[in-house]
Amino acid sequence: MAFEGLSERLQQVMSRIRGKGKVTEADVKEMMREVRLALLEADVNFKVVKDFIKQVSERAVGQEVMKSLTPGQQVIKIVKEELTALMGGEQSQIAVAKKPPTVVMMVGLQGAGKTTTTGKLANWLRKRHNRKPLLVAADVYRPAAIKQLETLGKQLSVPVFSLGEHENPVEIAKRALEQAKAEHCDYVLIDTAGRLHIDEGLMDELRQMKEAVKPDEIFLVVDAMTGQDAVNVAQSFHEQLGITGVILTKLDGDTRGGAALSIRAVTGAPIKFAGMGEKLDALEPFHPERMASRILG
Ligand code: GDP
Repeated sequence: MAFEGLSERLQQVMSRIRGKGKVTEADVKEMMREVRLALLEADVNFKVVKDFIKQVSERAVGQEVMKSLTPGQQVIKIVKEELTALMGGEQSQIAVAKKPPTVVMMVGLQGAGKTTTTGKLANWLRKRHNRKPLLVAADVYRPAAIKQLETLGKQLSVPVFSLGEHENPVEIAKRALEQAKAEHCDYVLIDTAGRLHIDEGLMDELRQMKEAVKPDEIFLVVDAMTGQDAVNVAQSFHEQLGITGVILTKLDGDTRGGAALSIRAVTGAPIKFAGMGEKLDALEPFHPERMASRILG
C-alpha cells in the first residue's frame, strides 16, 4: 500500500499530541522533528520538507492553537491543512475547450504508464461524463504502443486514430484533430512517444506537436514508484514544454509517497489524476484533501 510507512509514523506522532490540553513550543519542536524525519524517509524533497516544517511550526505555536479549547486536535488540523496545501489544495479539473474538441497531449517517459493511462482517461471521460473521446496513436517509436492503444480502444469501444508507425507524429496529431472535428468528438487524447530518458529529439517533437494542435491540456504521466526521479522528470518536462498537469501512476503500489508530496511544490504543476491499478477503471481524480486524510488516518 502506498504511503504505508509514512502514514504509520505520522499517525503515531499525531496520537501523542491529540489529547493534549496544552501544547508548548517544546512539544511542537519535538513533534516536528519526528514529522521531518518521517517525510524525509518517505523520500519527500528536502526543500519541500523544510518549508512544510516551517509553515506548520509557525502556525502550531500561534494564536489559533493557544486559543483553542482542544490544542492537540488543532495542531493535527493544521498538519492536515498544510499537507493538503502541499499537494495542491483544491482538486483541479480537466479543461474543457470553448469549442470542442478539447485536445489533450499525453506525454511521459517509457514505462511510466502513458498508453494505459490514455486508455483509462478515455474510459473515465466516456463512462463518468458521457463524453466522446478519440484516441490517437502517435507513439510511433515504441513498437507495440500503437497495437496496445488499438487493443485498449477495442476493449473500451472508443475509436482509435492511427496512421501506422511510418508517419510523422505531428502530422498524425493534426490529421486526428481534423477527424475528431468531422466526427464531433469532444476529446482528442494523443498518446505521444516516450523515451527511456529525456532528450532533445523528444522535446523538439513534442514542442512541434504542441505548436501544431494547440492542446488544452498537456498531461505528464509519471510513475509514483520512482520517487524523486519522478519529480525531476516533471520539472524538466515543465521547463521545456510547459505541462498543465501531472498524472501519477502506480499509486496502488508501495510507493513511499515522495513524488505525490513533492511534485506540486517543486514544479507548480497540479496533480490531476492518480492511477490506482492496471485495470482500465483504475484512474481517479486526485483529491489533495482526501489524500492527506488517508495519510494521517
Ligand atoms: P508507457 O510506456 O508509458 O506507455 O507505459 P504502459 O502504458 O505500457 O504501462 C507500463 C506498465 O505499467 C504496464 O504494465 C501497465 O499495466 C502498468 N501500469 C500503468 N499504470 C498503472 C497503475 O496505475 N498501477 C499499476 N499497478 N500498474 C500500472
